[in-house]
Amino acid sequence: LEKAFEIYDDFTYPSSAESLTPSASAPTALTPPPPSTSIKPSPHIVILGTGWGAASFLKTTASTPLNITCISPRNFFLFTPMLAGASVGTVEPRSITEPVRSLNPSSQFLEATSKSVDLKNKIIECESVTCEGNSCEISTFNVSYDVLIISVGASTNTFGIPGVLENCNFLKSIEDARRVRTGIVNCFERASLPGLSVERVKEILTFAVIGAGPTGVEFASELRDFVEEEGPKYYSSVLPYVSIKVIEASSTILAPFDSELQKKAISELTRFSFKGGRAITELMLSSGVKEITPTEIELNDGRKVAYGLSVWAAGNGPMQFTLGVIEGLEEEQKDRQNIARGRLAVDPWLRVVGGDGSVLALGDCACNAEDVLPATAQVAGQQGEWLGKMCRRGYDFCPEGTVVGRDMPPPSSSSGSPTIAEKISSPAPGVACAFQFLNLGILAYTGGGSALAQVQITEDKAVKSSGSLGFGLWRSVYLSKQVSGRNRLLVAVDWFKTKIFGRDITRL
Ligand code: FAD
Repeated sequence: LEKAFEIYDDFTYPSSAESLTPSASAPTALTPPPPSTSIKPSPHIVILGTGWGAASFLKTTASTPLNITCISPRNFFLFTPMLAGASVGTVEPRSITEPVRSLNPSSQFLEATSKSVDLKNKIIECESVTCEGNSCEISTFNVSYDVLIISVGASTNTFGIPGVLENCNFLKSIEDARRVRTGIVNCFERASLPGLSVERVKEILTFAVIGAGPTGVEFASELRDFVEEEGPKYYSSVLPYVSIKVIEASSTILAPFDSELQKKAISELTRFSFKGGRAITELMLSSGVKEITPTEIELNDGRKVAYGLSVWAAGNGPMQFTLGVIEGLEEEQKDRQNIARGRLAVDPWLRVVGGDGSVLALGDCACNAEDVLPATAQVAGQQGEWLGKMCRRGYDFCPEGTVVGRDMPPPSSSSGSPTIAEKISSPAPGVACAFQFLNLGILAYTGGGSALAQVQITEDKAVKSSGSLGFGLWRSVYLSKQVSGRNRLLVAVDWFKTKIFGRDITRL
């Protein structure tokens, strides 16, 4: 890679061969590289996806001379933690999305889906679908790469349960949120029609949320806010018949949280609404789903739940594309699949195991079998930033002729366990520190202006907070984590608008 990676960062670098070892004499001056006819073209870095991992990589490498192409079927970044809010109209979809082209204007963006990768010849096969009116045009093209970063996320795991794909809504994309928002209003409008029996109205106004992890709980909470705040204004006649059923296979909710906070969440979720009237939300724990029909959810113990709208929030599954890449890798990759389970097994430097070091993976589609991290935005974002810094520093990912996990030596790393300060700061020049996740904690909205916050102080010590204090933390963190000032302003305005005027129930 030679001088191609030299950039005007906080220092300049020696050649990539030297860059794998710490160098005391690494120049520190902010001097541009001398004009030279021997400078090779910058290696072509291709990143797949525009989610948390890719967006963070693109932001970190903005304003660098790196030759980056981003390929994704979605030309925007989506702030997934607020999808639940968007699905009931607390915030608008455009407030939580940001065009990817604005994150790194110097990179190239291709709106397409990568279908497969020829790892030997370093070529990605892409497909682009453009629809106008009723007709769609499909075009295919190939893109070659020197370094490939895969950040395609995960799909929804249906666990092969019959009827889930056909009858449930999901909460993964902005289209899903729009569909759910329309579906909720549809249920209220349908239930308000004349001539329906009370039983039928109750069925239509039963909202089933399958999965009581953070996504399911936040959606159920946002939905109850909608019922409590918009119901009396618009749908008072049918309000007594509304119920939200949270169906969960395990015996508890919000598994990543501490048990004390889980109890607080349960009591907040099941509290009475409308001044002591009744609890709208019912938690159905230890209730595995057997089958879902268009009108009923059958549980493993034989119980049946008739519903008007169902949302499936029960976990991640592998992407077809990722499975295809795994197939093309050496045995070392397949050996780790008992732990990686449909994700790309990576080494601590995020290099895909069983590859030649030129393919890296991060976020929900990657898994380091020795240190399995949760599938969260926090992990994906930190990995994207780490990789961006590594690219800026000219870290050579792919020494020739070796296979990661078999015979590729690890890049030199700093000795001993890194301190928290080292984790968040940049690695020293020329040193390729392994990626280290810094757990900052977790947050979850539980409705009615209350939230849970578990803020990690050290590895085994966390500050816990709930209620309105937790809510204050939740809102400030979500606002500060928006990827642009535009998003921050739009989200703040949406919250204000909802407080003053309520949610928009127009079905557009
Ligand atoms: P994603 O963000 O999913 O991005 C994947 C990208 O790849 C997308 O742009 C997609 O279009 C693109 N893509 C897909 N297939 C292809 C292909 N074949 N070729 C090219 N591009 C492709 N995490 C938290 O830490 N805190 C939270 O509060 C939180 N709340 C969440 C709420 C919801 C509703 C959801 C769904 C998730 C939430 N998460 C949260 C999890 C978090 O969103 C994920 O862990 C994170 O998005 C993973 O980032 P990623 O970059 O790996 O994948």
